[in-house]
Amino acid sequence: MLHPLITRLTSQILDGTPLTEEQGRLLAGLESDHTTELLFAANSVTRAMGHRPFTCSITNAKSGTCSQDCRFCAQSGHYTTGSPNHPLLPLDELIENGLAMHKAGASCYSLVTSGLMLSSDEITRICACIETLRSRTTLELSASLGLLNNDYARRLVQAGLTRYHHNLETARSHFPSICTTHSYDEDIATIRLAKEHGLKICSGGILGLGESWAQRIELAATLAELDVDTVPLNFLSPIPGTPLEASPLLSAHDALKSVALFRLMLPQVSITIAGGRERVLGDYQSWLPLAGANGMMIGNYLTTKGRNLEADLRMLEQGKWI
Ligand code: SF4
Repeated sequence: MLHPLITRLTSQILDGTPLTEEQGRLLAGLESDHTTELLFAANSVTRAMGHRPFTCSITNAKSGTCSQDCRFCAQSGHYTTGSPNHPLLPLDELIENGLAMHKAGASCYSLVTSGLMLSSDEITRICACIETLRSRTTLELSASLGLLNNDYARRLVQAGLTRYHHNLETARSHFPSICTTHSYDEDIATIRLAKEHGLKICSGGILGLGESWAQRIELAATLAELDVDTVPLNFLSPIPGTPLEASPLLSAHDALKSVALFRLMLPQVSITIAGGRERVLGDYQSWLPLAGANGMMIGNYLTTKGRNLEADLRMLEQGKWI
């Protein structure tokens, strides 16, 4: 039998009334004895909303030497991490990577760049890549290029971009402990601008940055208020050389419970699981659809695509939870 609070709030969601932040905090505060019931509720909401499985993929189009000081990030120029540094990849390489991910079965392909904001010339190259992939594939095309302005958003949409990715990373109340070089409001302004230009929004964060359960719910409530379309959830995999290098890994229990809470707070959105899942969840990765996730990033960075792709596609095929 489900805990009465879970039963009541699941009915509320299925009747079309979203959870309040306070209700989310009540669910997050339930004892771990009730976590499988939360997963069950999250799965029933996923199914009732008709979410379908999907796969997304990214290319690390520009890497490292970032001016920002995000304390989890291997690409920040403030830390020495040994992560790859390269300028924006040549156009033919960006296109080839997209064609490879299309062939591998990805539904969505995202060009991801480090740095606060690209230059106008870099946007021109990204637009050329998008135009080519739009004419040669059925991929949904996404980009994660840092902050946007009106001119960049207009050119990207004209080239065929349909989705913009910009993570909030964590709750507003926790953000100053994670990044001091730009503000939460700048991130929110970019999300609103992309939305104004008709782009679908993919925005989520990283769990395990030292945030509380209440702050996880706060992030979910902010994303609900922004009316985003897709929420990518990452689990921190601490990077040596960053200030968070000694952070404890989330337990598989807490990771799955978090996914379930995001599903209950955000019933209509697609929830996709990205970085850190292998390390944090291990054998429990196959529980992700049961916990309310319906998307999976495949291929990660292209150096590991062979093994990950096969294992991930098999896992998605075998899972009948959604
Ligand atoms: S802005 Fe992006 S690339 Fe730069 S440090 Fe922050 S997370 Fe890393």
